Amino acid sequence: MKSHLHTLGYRFLTRTLTGADNGESHLPGLTRRGFLVATASLSSCSMLSSDKNEPALTATTPTGPADPVKTPSNRAYRTPPVQGPVPRNPDMNLRADFSKSAGVTFTRVPVAGKYIALTFDDGPHPQNTPRLLDILRARNVKATFYVIGRSVDLYPGVVRRTVAEGHEIGNHTYTHRLLSKLGDAEVRQEMARTRDAIARAAGVQPRTMRPPYGGLLQRQRELVHAEFNYPTILWSVDPLDWKRPGPSVVTSRILSNTTAGGIVLAHDLHSQTVDAMPATIDGLLRQGYRFVTVSQLLAMKVETATAQAAVETPGQ
Ligand SMILES: [Zn+2]
Repeated sequence: MKSHLHTLGYRFLTRTLTGADNGESHLPGLTRRGFLVATASLSSCSMLSSDKNEPALTATTPTGPADPVKTPSNRAYRTPPVQGPVPRNPDMNLRADFSKSAGVTFTRVPVAGKYIALTFDDGPHPQNTPRLLDILRARNVKATFYVIGRSVDLYPGVVRRTVAEGHEIGNHTYTHRLLSKLGDAEVRQEMARTRDAIARAAGVQPRTMRPPYGGLLQRQRELVHAEFNYPTILWSVDPLDWKRPGPSVVTSRILSNTTAGGIVLAHDLHSQTVDAMPATIDGLLRQGYRFVTVSQLLAMKVETATAQAAVETPGQ
């Protein structure tokens, strides 16, 4: 059973990456578990690679896809107050309304201060994402989740909780295909279906996008920016956590490579990544970093010279 599902997931990966079909016809036949296996194989945002040794995910019931839970639009949403004082990471009533003219693509953002954005891709996952949310909540840390639209439709409750706890949701496409191989109509469809799934699940609109594998042509980035108002968000820190190097390696890679204004890439699809987060976040807090969402980081953008001066001024 396991190997059959893994094969199914890998076949899905292969067909997806080679563009051997239109990418849609095989999806209805995938079981919920099969899709999880497929997305586990696909979870290498940072690199085009098929990790054939990736084990299948466990602990999901092999039932059919659940109907998306429909909720009314939540236009009056406000981030709830933080729970208890956390001196190094206080509640930050920071604006998140970044300007459309701020830019089309970001790998990091010049800011005046030790602010960083933690980002988690390829969820929601029914077990690992809630576990991560517990870890974040215990530290008052806010993150940004680049979710796969199809998984949002499978686990809308996880997305609702993520939003309710003050995190930001970004658009990571509906089927996790390599967008640079797709036509404009398919790119629009990937964006729109995911946007609508997020709105159905949690009543919010994503404000930024991250392309799977980082693969998006400049022309496509401009299209997505013009039509959806999404800047393309890449990353400055990549611990390669999807290769499952072990939690301590994930932690040390992030701690040694993060700098102010950085965008850290990780994947809440993988349990090892979640295992790495307590030590990672505590280590970053000890280094003096403060966590903001991607939109907040973009809204803090300053001219590069100003950011450099702030970093060089001790006692900031
Ligand atoms: Zn991804």
